Amino acid sequence: MTPKVARFLAEQHPATPFLVLDIDRVAQNYATLRTALPLAQIYYAVKANPARPVLERLVGLGSRFDAASIEEIRSCLEAGATPQAISFGNTIKKVSSIQAAYEAGVGMYAFDSIEELEKLAEHAPGSRVYCRLMVENSGAEWPLSRKFGTTIEAARALMVRAGELGLDPYGLSFHVGSQQTNTGSYEAAIARVAMLFTDLRDAGVNLRMVNLGGGFPARYRDEVPAIDTFAGAIMEAMTRGFGNALPEMVIEPGRSMVADAGLVRAEVVLVSRRDPAEPVRWVYLDIGRFGGLAETEGEAIRYRFVTEHEGTETGPVALAGPTCDGADILYEKSNYHMPLALKSGELVSVLSTGAYVTTYASQRFNGFLPLAEYYV
Ligand SMILES: *Cc1c(COP(=O)(O)O)cnc(C)c1O
Repeated sequence: MTPKVARFLAEQHPATPFLVLDIDRVAQNYATLRTALPLAQIYYAVKANPARPVLERLVGLGSRFDAASIEEIRSCLEAGATPQAISFGNTIKKVSSIQAAYEAGVGMYAFDSIEELEKLAEHAPGSRVYCRLMVENSGAEWPLSRKFGTTIEAARALMVRAGELGLDPYGLSFHVGSQQTNTGSYEAAIARVAMLFTDLRDAGVNLRMVNLGGGFPARYRDEVPAIDTFAGAIMEAMTRGFGNALPEMVIEPGRSMVADAGLVRAEVVLVSRRDPAEPVRWVYLDIGRFGGLAETEGEAIRYRFVTEHEGTETGPVALAGPTCDGADILYEKSNYHMPLALKSGELVSVLSTGAYVTTYASQRFNGFLPLAEYYV
């Protein structure tokens, strides 16, 4: 918890649940990434937290933006980003969105299929395009691989075709999966990209850019390697693959830029032992899967909880949200423990909830309002 967040919690007492996020911490995270990977251009992945104060602060710092929809592009432009600083990074785009982005001046687009490439050639002629590769997502707690990317062989043919269609075959991208804890995933992906660069150069296509995507982990319940560990592995792999002819490097951090800047304050609605023979207490909070903690799906992202009874005796718990949906369980299998003294009406903090929380909140499911947000 940052001092600004602590002061907000001490002085203001808005109704729970709410997110409070320290914008200075986002700026610090941006600086840390820049220092760790000075050769990489940062495109903040807007979907992690598209709040206006976050975008404006990043615009001020010179960040660029990875947008997934025309709406996200508009948010970036409204926050002061130039169209040249925006990449339309979703490989799945409506024609109307491509047209609107192109008209707005956005010049860089992702794709992973011939169908999408032809849409881009027709509706965003002459634009820089990069092809997303399918890469191994093992080690990622929130994998993305099955939905996006194509094979090396297909990418090779598509990049040749991009030039023939009048587009600028700019580079290649991958995403090793979100909350990636293993540096080896970047190393393996970079090696594949480097081989394809060479191969395409021999075919007369000179790519200039490697987009390493996001994936850098946030600290939740378990420790994760520091950003420097990833940066070291990445630069070593880049040098191994490209020698001293390094291409432009792009990174698209989302989670690592905003997660630890935010904290959710929630209230304990009920602590119950529905089966007295069971040692496990059920702790129901006023935020759950539908209130924004969607990444607890499959218990993939394991948040850290802080109560008013730190340091006291704990016992096993299952954690759940307040709705009448059976899927609204946060953790049942992940061996969570909470203080035995915990009672309904008390406050709980959910740490590192600045990424992938606010926008996942549902609209009035069971009447519950979307998560309130405060930026300090
Ligand atoms: C979601 C996403 C990111 C951000 O990933 P993080 O793991 O949050 O850093 C970056 N690039 C693309 C294309 C994405 O879809």
